[in-house]
Amino acid sequence: MTTMGGITFSELGWAAPPTDVTAPLEGTLTCDVAVVGGGYAGMATALRLAERGADVVLLEAGFCGCGASSRNAGQLGSVPGGDPALLSALHPRRFPGLIRLAEGAVDFIESTITRLGIDCDYEPTGNVAAAVTPAQVKIAKRKWELFRKAGVDVEFGDARALGLPEAFLEGMLERKGGVLDPGKFALGLRTALLGSGARVFEQTPVQSMEPTGVGVIVAVPGGHVRAERVVLTTNACSRDLAIAPKRLAAPVWVSMIETEPIPADRIKEAGWASRSGIVTQHQIMESYRLSRRNTIVTGVRRLQAARGAIGPRTPDPSVVAELTRGFRARFPSLHDIAIRRAWGGWIAMTPSWLPVAGEATRNVSYLIACNGHGLAQAPHLGTLLADRLAGDRPHEDLGTVWRTRSRFAPALVFNGPAMHMLWALDRWADRRAR
Ligand SMILES: Cc1cc2nc3c(=O)[nH]c(=O)nc-3n(C[C@H](O)[C@H](O)[C@H](O)COP(=O)(O)OP(=O)(O)OC[C@H]3O[C@@H](n4cnc5c(N)ncnc54)[C@H](O)[C@@H]3O)c2cc1C
Repeated sequence: MTTMGGITFSELGWAAPPTDVTAPLEGTLTCDVAVVGGGYAGMATALRLAERGADVVLLEAGFCGCGASSRNAGQLGSVPGGDPALLSALHPRRFPGLIRLAEGAVDFIESTITRLGIDCDYEPTGNVAAAVTPAQVKIAKRKWELFRKAGVDVEFGDARALGLPEAFLEGMLERKGGVLDPGKFALGLRTALLGSGARVFEQTPVQSMEPTGVGVIVAVPGGHVRAERVVLTTNACSRDLAIAPKRLAAPVWVSMIETEPIPADRIKEAGWASRSGIVTQHQIMESYRLSRRNTIVTGVRRLQAARGAIGPRTPDPSVVAELTRGFRARFPSLHDIAIRRAWGGWIAMTPSWLPVAGEATRNVSYLIACNGHGLAQAPHLGTLLADRLAGDRPHEDLGTVWRTRSRFAPALVFNGPAMHMLWALDRWADRRAR
């Protein structure tokens, strides 16, 4: 952690390491299912398996929730990520399923918060795909038309009518969903998991996996686990495990900043009456949301490719300056509000930009649900994957993302030069609109 110009650059997101981090695995043990990776996806998978009576072991390199799950913007979105026109053109048969999945995932989170009694500051405000330029108005309107036709609960309107701040022109409100504290949600899931019958080993990085005739041997620094089946929920780190399908996902670094607390009357004056989460329609979005402590959390605008191994890091000061410029442009009346904290996290971009699940090899399943809407979709799909492993007929939402062949095309966009070009296009469009 370092401090520069009054901003704390943190290696953590919304959650500090819990005081009861579990001990690493030492020695050998056997189980029905070993889940590798304790983010939303892995915790939900292990929790459901334990609730259904399976003997489940979860192995997590850090603490459960320390990855993207406690670093994200906390915007619980109810429509598929990406451009729906492109999605429906490229995947015409899967498109209705992707819409069902996105809505079902939000229902799942809302019921999980209630069922497990997780206090995570959830505000069901909805989220707005908002436009800051006339070109973005067209994009948002096209999205609204497509989603409305598909039966999604969306509304298009003037930004003032939607309760958005002054710099936003028009937008599409997704009524379902809202904003929450992702760190509290992750730690709430962790508490539920620790209270279940699952055996949880934190500080336990999995090094390799070797399928045998009857199961899989999972090697960790202090020993190994003999599991009948394994689930990989390692998100951006998946490419580090040789057993994961090649090119499953590219790790991309995303940065966030947070302001100091803002007096309620200043937020009202700025025009943010609805408190809805906001996502702009740039090539690389800007996201804005209010927290329960009345800070503004904003992020993305620039994506960074991984160079070499991925691990803990703090955001680049140049990206923090870039995000600050975005904040100042969208909230001119809050010109005196200071930025206090910056952090980031690794997301896993799949070549199709869609969540994917499947079998890497016999007895080894994988799940990645990170592409923009993983907060809702990772735990929902993890739970459905657990049900499948417990012998249920696969749920249609899992079927929508299930790959029968785990071969993936190279992702052409998630490299440094391509992502820089998208950023440059956005800045050019912003200048033109001014
Ligand atoms: C900055 C940022 C903003 C985002 N904003 C949003 C948003 O507003 N809305 C939204 O829906 N989504 C958002 N996302 C995406 C969302 O956070 C992810 O989709 C979701 O958290 C993925 O959960 P996961 O369990 O798959 O991955 P993770 O939370 O990353 O969990 C993977 C876990 O695996 C562990 N691991 C990795 N390798 C190993 C190994 N070899 N052995 C043991 N453990 C291992 C890691 O330590 C980690 O805890 C954002 C992500 C980021 C980073």
